[in-house]
Amino acid sequence: MRRAAMVAAAAVLVTACGSGDTSTVVGRAEAGALTVGVRYDQPGLSQKRLDGRFVGFDVDVAKYVAKELGVAEDKITFKEARSAARESMIVSGEVDFVVATYSITDKRKEQVAFAGPYFQTGQGMLVRYSDDSIKGPESLNGKKLCSVKGSTSAQKVKSDFSKDAQLVEYGQYSDCIIGLMAGNVDAVTTDEVILAGFAAENPELVKLVGKPFTTERYGIGVAKSDSVSREAINKAIEKMIGSGEWRAALERNVGPSGYQIPEPPQVTEKS
Ligand code: GLU
Repeated sequence: MRRAAMVAAAAVLVTACGSGDTSTVVGRAEAGALTVGVRYDQPGLSQKRLDGRFVGFDVDVAKYVAKELGVAEDKITFKEARSAARESMIVSGEVDFVVATYSITDKRKEQVAFAGPYFQTGQGMLVRYSDDSIKGPESLNGKKLCSVKGSTSAQKVKSDFSKDAQLVEYGQYSDCIIGLMAGNVDAVTTDEVILAGFAAENPELVKLVGKPFTTERYGIGVAKSDSVSREAINKAIEKMIGSGEWRAALERNVGPSGYQIPEPPQVTEKS
């Protein structure tokens, strides 16, 4: 009798845990909850509001993917994933996946895998509204240029503009924007879609200048070994694009900044 009860209890446990394979994101989703790395300070893309809610396009992508994996919104724990922390948060298992304006690069692929891309933009430049001396990366002579540690944007400055500009690296873009408005730096550089969100919050103080000078393809970062989950996330991205929810989420979150919504990318990060 006791033995039967134990067997029954074990059966319930196995059912509750789905496949029971918690070594993959798909398995952990079946167990009922997910932890996702996002940004806290990027208007239109991903912000933690004062009431604790998360809003923005990246947040909507994260929620859509989680839902496709069987996890409801209220079972997602969001964690801050700043530029320099993303790889280590994935590798250590601190988060299940990262949706955080995360460009797909070969260097990053040495440590993590990407699903996607789910969005494409390019690096641009933001200056004070009253400043007519900086017109783009070609007119940076002696200027202080702010970007974020661990970003492709800062890397680009180091490799291409370091002769002209002095790079100032902060931990997050909102600190660069504060520095720009305070006069501590002369320009901020990162992806145009990020800069457009900040410009929309302060239209009389800052402006975008020049044309985009890189191509940034945003992917969803997952553990390198977890190809099953990468495929499942790719399917979710394709479904979000195909259903029209991708465009609706962009129009809702990014549209108000005036940033022109591009065509959806092809999902190419497949094995
Ligand atoms: N997309 C670029 C990157 O991954 C810049 C934006 C960011 O730092 O999140 O590095």
